[in-house]
Amino acid sequence: LSTTFSDLFRQMGGKAKISEKNVQDAVEQIKLALLEADVNLRVVRRFVNATLKEATGEHVLRSVSPGQQFVKIVHDRIVHLLGDEAAGLNLKGPDTTSVILLLGLQGSGKTTTASKLAARLKKEGRRPLLVAADLVRPAAVDQLVTLGSQIAVDVHSEKGAKDPVKVAKNGLKRGKKELYDTVIIDTSGRMHVDADLMKEIKSVFQAVKPDETLMVADAMTGQHAVDIAKSFDETVELSGVILSKFDSDTRGGAALSLKSITGKAIKFIGVGEKSDDLEPFVPERIASRILGMGDVVSLVEKAQETIDEQEAVDLQKKMASKNFTLEDYLDQFSRMRKMGGLEKIMDMMPGMQGQMEMDENQQKMIAHQEAIILSMTPKERQNHFMIGPGRRKRIAKGSGTSVHQVNKLIKDFDKMRQMMKKAAKNKKYQQQMMKQL
Ligand code: GDP
Ligand code: MG
Repeated sequence: LSTTFSDLFRQMGGKAKISEKNVQDAVEQIKLALLEADVNLRVVRRFVNATLKEATGEHVLRSVSPGQQFVKIVHDRIVHLLGDEAAGLNLKGPDTTSVILLLGLQGSGKTTTASKLAARLKKEGRRPLLVAADLVRPAAVDQLVTLGSQIAVDVHSEKGAKDPVKVAKNGLKRGKKELYDTVIIDTSGRMHVDADLMKEIKSVFQAVKPDETLMVADAMTGQHAVDIAKSFDETVELSGVILSKFDSDTRGGAALSLKSITGKAIKFIGVGEKSDDLEPFVPERIASRILGMGDVVSLVEKAQETIDEQEAVDLQKKMASKNFTLEDYLDQFSRMRKMGGLEKIMDMMPGMQGQMEMDENQQKMIAHQEAIILSMTPKERQNHFMIGPGRRKRIAKGSGTSVHQVNKLIKDFDKMRQMMKKAAKNKKYQQQMMKQL
């Protein structure tokens, strides 16, 4: 899919003029790509019609670079389909007890998500209580108890209990009595949507009257997730969806269909098995993922603000090349700073998101980096491997920094270089880069 889109966007983005025929061809290709990404046919049709209409209007024809604008139109349309903005949780204030009910099929990630949500709310200063109301799956209660203890969140469970409605009710009662501000109820799932499950869910729903009724869906189930969401929504009114396993190599086609067909906001995505692997669903970010090109759109926008596009392209190209040296790094310094630093740039490149996180200290360190590199000899800048302990001491002195800071710079630079090298070896990434350039 990514190849199709990148390819297409390269063709379209490079065009000084685009005809109606160009647009039609491009939209046809997008249609195939979306279907391939497991986006629902109805959604695709709607998307295609809207894009055609917008892209052939005078708006585009008058523009300076219609090709690029077309790319932007497609991007923005996808963002719109995904819901435009991130939707948070609707919970009551901390002086009362809010209820979050989690539902979904077996294995969709409910129990894991329950603990992730609890960890998140705890971090936000709330006081959550987890309730183990999955009495079907063997060991489900133990699983939640274990997860709860890992994040130091209390879990309400009842040994030998048979009735999930009772457990949920008792959990809520305890939550209110012991002044927990959020009760998160984990429920049982089944392999398939069946009457038995729906009956159970409905009873629990009616007993606890949740503030948030969230379906947890496995992102990899693609379009099927839409049907499941519909079934649940008919039984209890869903207030949103959490897509788990977004760290899998799914492209997010399910996300497009879900929001578009059910109208339910996707509130979070699960991006791993650990308790902090839950992120707010940001349509902008997911759109880029569906388009398979990192945040190229914003890179282009940002680049245009500060430096001309060609410079940005050169910088990317240079950074991805095998012989990127400290000298090049220095050369790019002022430009990179203008664009928001190395971290920002890495984040905007396909497959590099989140690879280089910087804390405040590191950001301060960036200010020293230029001085450090300036204190190196040209030879040292060309080959950072030759910079041994003695040289490091000299460089630290010359730049008014410490040996520790010099070490850190060289280490960070080497790490970045290796990541770039690895990325450059990756065929798919290479194709993406080439197509962007
Ligand atoms: P439940 O049956 O709906 O309660 O599902 P579980 O919470 O037990 O999750 C099923 C499996 O999926 C477990 O092995 C989880 O660790 C895993 N899992 C859940 N969410 C994610 C996620 O966002 N990413 C990944 N990689 N694995 C997940
Ligand atoms: Mg479970």
